[in-house]
Amino acid sequence: MTYACPYTVTVGAYVLGVLCARENTEFRQHAVGCPSCQREIAELTPTVRLLAILKTETHEANRRAISREPERTRGELSR
Ligand SMILES: [Zn+2]
Repeated sequence: MTYACPYTVTVGAYVLGVLCARENTEFRQHAVGCPSCQREIAELTPTVRLLAILKTETHEANRRAISREPERTRGELSR
């Protein structure tokens, strides 16, 4: 059986930046000496960055769709 670090569940929250300051400090102090967590961080970071880009693009697309909405609604109402 492979070694499972008890902090493995914390890696996702750390990479997403949702840990509180105390948890963040505690996890960083642990991760410095934990190859398992360092590997998890390295694996998750590109995915989180990609999700952040997708989120930004989705918000931008929604904003454009919403800004066109009144015109379309007015057109449909006048019919
Ligand atoms: Zn660890």
